[in-house]
Amino acid sequence: MSVLARGGVGPLCAAARAVIPCLWRGKYFSSGREPAENQVTPMLRHLIYKIKATGPITVAEYMKEVLTNPAKGYYVYRDMLGEKGDFITSPEISQIFGELLGIWFISEWMAAGKNAAFQLVELGPGRGTLAGDILRVFSQLGSVLKNCDISIHLVEVSEKLSEIQALTLTEEKVPVERNAGSPVYMKGVTKSGIPISWYRDLHDVPRGYSFYLAHEFLDVLPVHKFQKTPRGWREVVIDVDPHVSDKLRFVLAPCVTPAEVFIQRDEMRDHVEVCPEAGVIVQELSQRIALAGGAALIADYGHDGTKTDTFRGFCGHKLHDVLTAPGTADLTADVDFSYLRRMAEGQVASLGPIKQQTFLKNMGIDVRLKVLLAKSDEPARQQLLQGYDMLMNPKKMGERFNFFALLPHQRLHGRSHPMNARPSKPAVSPVAGFGELAWQ
Ligand code: SAH
Repeated sequence: MSVLARGGVGPLCAAARAVIPCLWRGKYFSSGREPAENQVTPMLRHLIYKIKATGPITVAEYMKEVLTNPAKGYYVYRDMLGEKGDFITSPEISQIFGELLGIWFISEWMAAGKNAAFQLVELGPGRGTLAGDILRVFSQLGSVLKNCDISIHLVEVSEKLSEIQALTLTEEKVPVERNAGSPVYMKGVTKSGIPISWYRDLHDVPRGYSFYLAHEFLDVLPVHKFQKTPRGWREVVIDVDPHVSDKLRFVLAPCVTPAEVFIQRDEMRDHVEVCPEAGVIVQELSQRIALAGGAALIADYGHDGTKTDTFRGFCGHKLHDVLTAPGTADLTADVDFSYLRRMAEGQVASLGPIKQQTFLKNMGIDVRLKVLLAKSDEPARQQLLQGYDMLMNPKKMGERFNFFALLPHQRLHGRSHPMNARPSKPAVSPVAGFGELAWQ
């Protein structure tokens, strides 16, 4: 379906943004603040039975159960984002964030030869705020995108959040489809007339020419944790504390576990976290982009293979002990971009990670802020300025969050993708955001 320019789309988005400050997940402290009592949640009871029956579980299994267990998982039935939730994310802070990402996708679509159609695929879309801001840009730049068939594909495990996404993006309650044979569990049409579908797994999304987006998604995928010991690497696992009832504790596996294959031979750190699920997703994205064209933009807090113990929990904008009251708090670990780069190697080119502050500056955040400030009245101006500070300040989100991109090799070497129906001039333009903005 073509995107048509909509008249009268104002510069300021109507969606209320968070009143700052709230806690963002990238921020963490060295010691956890434990709640006064160890609440015995249904998830804790379930894990204790499981461990007593079949033995200690890996941290990865723990994270997976706690976050996405279909019956009791933290992500499945609640809205954890925003002031009243547990943490805040960039798109919930400022509309400019999503707008600049929308420009990034259009810029990549143009640089790669303006394919006749593309899918925008978002992994873990939260409340749909980011996709909404991107779609507003697509509408405002409808004259550029005219004749391009766009479709939206959201990968989301949370029933609650998918309901909210549908309301944000289609302004309707979209019924859940009960057809067991179809991987699409909801579908509708966005406010600007674009078809939109929901899936539980990236593997189910059609493999066409696509732009993929993962913002604060990879950090919630399960990590394995390892500790170097005099006897070699040992995996950190979770057991029931024999001295305190209804309490979990970390222990080291007595012998080598299968996940040890993920540790690099020349690893210098003495504690590492590895997220094989993130590796599988990056491999899948890389294969798709290499075969069908497009690009992926991954933004998250993380490091380039340097950090050690980053596993942490958040509840009500406070740091939360990860083993206490499981199911009531978010669990997360920093993304290791060096691992993602290795997973993409050979298939596609990768760019980054670069700091959020640098990426947004290169994308023109200062110009966009100026335009919005000029059109706003006082309370909105304050909110825009505070949002800008939160996203850009190196002590806030500016330096902890990173941008990382996957692109077809052809995109960086001046040929159009073979799947691209329209012949184009050699694409030699720099990739937006990853180099300094050059005004022409
Ligand atoms: N990108 C959003 C939300 C980040 S929170 C933002 O920046 O505001 C993480 C999101 O990933 C939530 O939507 C959560 O429900 C979803 N999620 C978590 N684990 C998932 C999984 N295994 N598969 C698909 N979605 C998942």
